[in-house]
Amino acid sequence: MTAQTLQADLTWIDGAFQADRVITIGSEGRIESIEAAVQGSVRRLPGIALLPGFVNAHSHAFQRALRGSAERFPTGAGSFWSWRESMYALVSSLDRQMLGRICRQAYAEMRDAGITTVGEFHYLHHDRDADFAFDDVVLEAASDVGIRLVLLQTYYSMGGIGKALGPAQRRFSTPDLGAYLRQLDRLAGRLDPALHSLGMVAHSVRAASLAETRALHEEAARRGLPFHMHVEEQRSEVEESLAAYGRTPMRLLCDELAPAGSLTAVHCTHTSPADMADFLSRGGRVCVCPLTEANLGDGIPDLSTAHSAGGRISLGTDSNARIATIEEMRWLEYGQRLRRQVRGALVGPGGEVASTLLDAATRGGAAALGIATGEIAPGRWADFAAIDLSVPSLVEVTPAGLLDAIVFGGGNRAIAGSFVGGKWRETD
Ligand SMILES: [Zn+2]
Repeated sequence: MTAQTLQADLTWIDGAFQADRVITIGSEGRIESIEAAVQGSVRRLPGIALLPGFVNAHSHAFQRALRGSAERFPTGAGSFWSWRESMYALVSSLDRQMLGRICRQAYAEMRDAGITTVGEFHYLHHDRDADFAFDDVVLEAASDVGIRLVLLQTYYSMGGIGKALGPAQRRFSTPDLGAYLRQLDRLAGRLDPALHSLGMVAHSVRAASLAETRALHEEAARRGLPFHMHVEEQRSEVEESLAAYGRTPMRLLCDELAPAGSLTAVHCTHTSPADMADFLSRGGRVCVCPLTEANLGDGIPDLSTAHSAGGRISLGTDSNARIATIEEMRWLEYGQRLRRQVRGALVGPGGEVASTLLDAATRGGAAALGIATGEIAPGRWADFAAIDLSVPSLVEVTPAGLLDAIVFGGGNRAIAGSFVGGKWRETD
């Protein structure tokens, strides 16, 4: 790609929309400078406001294939665990071609929702006839769509604390640390440095032993990779951990993985305020997935401590039942409103909520994934979500109220397209 300059009507810089800024993008896809004017030709983007591209910090792309098949309850009310049976049936049916189609579709829908980086929490590793074949399928699908992808390579060795894997879970199996790390090294040699990077994951306390989790976390710190884990999405996980270890999953992580610096805990739906405060004080981060947590009936996390800690929250589309980051943003706030019966639960120092929510969808995710994105600033990747200022939901909105209007009144229809590393893709 050759160097280029872009000029939208409005660009989100340093927490506000600024008019007519010219962004210069280097040939490798990073922002070189942002100025009021430059010499030479500039690519104008009339009627467009640029936001930092959204960062989806937690996705299982293959679960997008459950749409249309997991919303009926013939035997009465369901739960996360009954949904998991539908997901396991899907897992057993997949091959490389099907998975590739599903991932390309999900990643294309993410681009159309303004998502420019996805953290793929990837535990579905094996095809029937080839171990770890699905890891390559995910990387190739991201390249085909041109979405930035952090492959959060997931360790999965138990079917519950101290239990053997069940039949469907064999496709997730990482038999031991040596095999897992050999595959991680092989993947490191296959990455496209312009788009791909790696992270390390222990699926949950249900799926990795305490010793394995400790060793994985140490290795991630040694390699300088982000480390993610599902934590306390379901009450039964908390109960299982209390029965086996005498401690909650979050308590275990705080006690056993010190310092928690590079750790992102996904969900924290049932985490106690005291455990949450301890986790955050050790540098931990929280990823929340409001639409999935609602869809699965998980519950609503208490985010007051994480919000006070500033910038420690990120957002994920998780099960991908709906791919819409603008909706995830407002439901991050709405969940807290419903839980606490207040408005402005995640209010920032200037009295705004929308900028807190945008931060979670951009900078918070970039920090959780260890990627130089999430802000429109020199040195960052040129990853932008392009907002169409002519859509009905934004007509006659002033620049001062624009972010509020996008976050609380907008949706995917407002996304005209997105740039990843300076490469444009128009919304389908
Ligand atoms: Zn998940």
